[in-house]
Amino acid sequence: MPDATDIAAAALTRVAGRIDAAARLAARDPAGVTLIAVTKTRSLADIEPLLAAGHRDFGENRVQEAQAKWPDLRAAWPDLRLHLVGQLQSNKAADAVALFDAIHSLDRRSLADALVRAIEREGRTPLLFVQVNIGAEPQKGGCDIAELPVLLDHCATAGLSITGLMCVPPAGVEAAPWFALLARLARRHGLAGLSMGMSDDLEAAVMMGASHVRVGTALFGPRG
Ligand SMILES: *Cc1c(COP(=O)(O)O)cnc(C)c1O
Repeated sequence: MPDATDIAAAALTRVAGRIDAAARLAARDPAGVTLIAVTKTRSLADIEPLLAAGHRDFGENRVQEAQAKWPDLRAAWPDLRLHLVGQLQSNKAADAVALFDAIHSLDRRSLADALVRAIEREGRTPLLFVQVNIGAEPQKGGCDIAELPVLLDHCATAGLSITGLMCVPPAGVEAAPWFALLARLARRHGLAGLSMGMSDDLEAAVMMGASHVRVGTALFGPRG
């Protein structure tokens, strides 16, 4: 019987193989793609085998859920990196800055201001991605494409260094054109980071230049 660490290692190898193949097709170095294991709703029994198998980048979409799960894990695995991939309320900015190494959901000026204060107060600076509502969907987080230049200017003026852009494209349609659009916006603004691609579309994202892919179900199975 394979143990939980073997099963986690096999899942990681499968997803890494998909990233490698897509990177090869696009003449990219797969080492330029960080795989974030998205662990929202997953228990410690799901997460610990990945850590034991050597994985270090993890994503959560809620600050409170992450606060309940990650401080103990971080104490046991001090070199892990935690990414916030879900929407962030300004009143949780300090908690997020204290816990996360990267925040992928900066999408408005008021949140940029709250993050400036939180970074000063907590004395640590996570990587910051600006989330773009790439398909202009009313129910989704992210800034409108038209507002992106103003938001990036605001961040620069406030002293926030932005690593890149993030998007969650519309469901049920081909993702590649949205990834291409996000990549074009990042290029236009001189940003190297691209947080895009999930379980079903990571190949397209890697081919379009993703620096970070966010993967849940392909590693852990369907969420209950
Ligand atoms: C849940 C989630 C993911 C992972 O989605 P899967 O389809 O399970 O790979 C990626 N990004 C964000 C923002 C998420 O909320």
